[in-house]
Amino acid sequence: MNSATRVAVIGAGLGGLTAAGYLQRAGFLVTVYEQTAGFARIGAGIVMGANAVRPLMHLGLGPALVAAGIKPDSFLSRSWTPARRCMN
Ligand SMILES: Cc1cc2nc3c(=O)[nH]c(=O)nc-3n(C[C@H](O)[C@H](O)[C@H](O)COP(=O)(O)OP(=O)(O)OC[C@H]3O[C@@H](n4cnc5c(N)ncnc54)[C@H](O)[C@@H]3O)c2cc1C
Repeated sequence: MNSATRVAVIGAGLGGLTAAGYLQRAGFLVTVYEQTAGFARIGAGIVMGANAVRPLMHLGLGPALVAAGIKPDSFLSRSWTPARRCMN
């Protein structure tokens, strides 16, 4: 596969856009196809761990993430039943 190879990425979620960013950076001609007409908020927010943020930082998205997000001092996750603390 040479760098003029065209790549279709299906889905503009975190995975698809991250893959597209890296493929484009590597010189491939990337087109992203997304089925939805637009994006809407469906939850309270996305909490991303350090391992998930790192590849986005390498794509140069660090300043935008810092501007749009917050850095929590701590994180607590509970299982639904019986509200047992499972990580923090
Ligand atoms: C309410 C909620 C809260 C969450 N909170 C967190 C959190 O706090 N932290 C965390 O790490 N994760 C969280 N997650 C999970 C996280 O959102 C997913 O793991 C992550 O977004 C998955 O990314 P993805 O790119 O694999 O898939 P998606 O984000 O689902 O992206 C897939 C995309 O592909 C598109 N698509 C699918 N089929 C086609 C097709 N045939 N043609 C074109 N487009 C197509 C879809 O429309 C979609 O936009 C949460 C999920 C939900 C639903």
